[in-house]
Amino acid sequence: MIKLKPFINTARVWAENSSCARLKVGACIINMETRRLLSIGYNGTISGMYNCNNIFVKNGEDYYVSKDILKYMEVDLPFERDGFAHIDRDNWLRHHHLFSDKLEVHAEQNAIYNLIKTGASYDTDNLAIVCTHAPCRQCAKAIAALGIKYVFYINEYDNNEEIVMKYFNSVGVICRQVQDDCVYNEDEEEDFEEE
Ligand SMILES: [Zn+2]
Ligand SMILES: [Zn+2]
Repeated sequence: MIKLKPFINTARVWAENSSCARLKVGACIINMETRRLLSIGYNGTISGMYNCNNIFVKNGEDYYVSKDILKYMEVDLPFERDGFAHIDRDNWLRHHHLFSDKLEVHAEQNAIYNLIKTGASYDTDNLAIVCTHAPCRQCAKAIAALGIKYVFYINEYDNNEEIVMKYFNSVGVICRQVQDDCVYNEDEEEDFEEE
């Protein structure tokens, strides 16, 4: 049995470090048997590169994007506010998606890379990843490829759960949505519940 609350808190705290203007995501990899924290990750560009929130700004219902990225994407818009253009939400999301797809690394993948970079040996039979959001399809593949056996997430993400859950099922990864006080008991997989 493992209490996931400390690791849920850890994933949340690291999500706050994210400089993504759209969504802050955090993840941590743990050993289910020793209950040790092995690595953490949050979404963002690689170190040394400009951050998402240097380019995309959201202020209440107002959405801005820097002229540099628009130039790069060959979009022609008038600029106000120190080199930022005021754009509508849909366009902001669209540009962010293009930017993110090219340059941002997801929290789950950063947690995996951080684990590998530590050079620590790890027992894949007992690896779990705790995430603030359900993994996307790309991260699901990376999680399965590393040999992580359990995935716990807090929030749904962009309605991709069904396809991701099917994938995890097909490769033998147990994936569960959890609440703060969730206790996971491997021996009673059927009775998985929140306390
Ligand atoms: Zn972003
Ligand atoms: Zn992802």
